[in-house]
Order: sequence, then C-alpha cells, then structure tokens
Amino acid sequence: ILPRIVIVGRPNVGKSTLFNRILKKRRAITDPTPGVTRDAIEEKAIIAGREVLIVDTGGYKVERDDQFDELVAQKSLNVLGDADLILFMLDVNELSGEDEAYIEHLRPHMGKTLLIANKVDHVEKEPEIYNFYTLGFEHIIGISAAHGRNIQELEDKILSMI
Ligand code: GDP
Ligand code: MG
Repeated sequence: ILPRIVIVGRPNVGKSTLFNRILKKRRAITDPTPGVTRDAIEEKAIIAGREVLIVDTGGYKVERDDQFDELVAQKSLNVLGDADLILFMLDVNELSGEDEAYIEHLRPHMGKTLLIANKVDHVEKEPEIYNFYTLGFEHIIGISAAHGRNIQELEDKILSMI
C-alpha cells in the first residue's frame, strides 16, 4: 500500500505542472486555460527515493458553470479524505476568493496538508510566501513548478510528512 499524495487547488495554480515535474515526464495536460485538467489522474512516482501514488485533480470551481464543473468539484473534494498527504497549491501572485473557499474545505485536514505557494520564479519573490502564514497552515513551502525551483526541498518535505 503506497502513500497517496493528492495535489489540489483552484484552476491554473500549476498543479499539473508540478505533477509532471514529479513524474519527470509529460502526463497531465497543462494549459493556460483554467480548469483544463477535468479528471483526477493517478500515477506511481518516486519522491526522495520513496515510491508513492500521486494524484493530479481537476480544479475546484466555486462558481460552477455547469453540471460537469459540479462533478469535477465533487471528485476533487472527495479525494481529501482518502489522501495520506494533501498538497494544496496557491499562486504566490494571487490569492483569490476561490482559494479561500477551498481553504474552508481543507480545515479538517490541516494536519496532513502542505501549502505550496507556486510561481515563486525568482529569489525576490520568496519573502511573499510569508503572507500565507496568516492562513493557518503549519507546513508551507514556496516553489516554481515551471522553473524547477525548490523541488528537491519540496520532495524532502513531502518525505518527512508521509
Ligand atoms: P492547473 O490548472 O493547476 O493544473 O495549472 P497548470 O499546471 O495547467 O498551469 C497553469 C499555467 O500556469 C500554465 O500556463 C503553466 O505553464 C503556468 N505555471 C505553472 N507553474 C508555474 C510556475 O512555477 N511559474 C509560472 N510563472 N507559471 C507557471
Ligand atoms: Mg491541471
């Protein structure tokens, strides 16, 4: 039984980009259009030498356009209970109402959640992750999934939490 790690967060924060980076191959569809990954994708991966299952989820949309969005949202929330570790992603540049709505769903799971502030593309952006400490998460890390910044530190942190 492998530890199950799920990546969640609103559309466009970079979940699929991180998923692909951890897998070191292209698997999930990444797209500048928010919410392009509609379904959960699960793969085996090696994180800091440990075999795990990693799940990339579709975006949770607070303003649901249609029943399909509703289905994606439900699936995304269901995975929280099953997860051994939740990677909750935000965009360091933009905290939105959608993020805050998601945080309410994460409250019961705070102890097994790592907050990832993504798109910390440059060292000058690093101090901005401290803005997120007011959200109440104990575990926070800043990364750039697209540029590969702090990924080794992320993997080490994940390993310490599973
Ligand atoms: P998802 O909807 O959460 O799965 O987000 P995606 O992985 O599809 O990424 C959404 C957009 O953000 C794409 O255009 C990515 O190239 C971009 N992106 C992802 N990670 C980063 C990052 O670390 N820095 C920057 N600048 N852009 C990123
Ligand atoms: Mg995606």
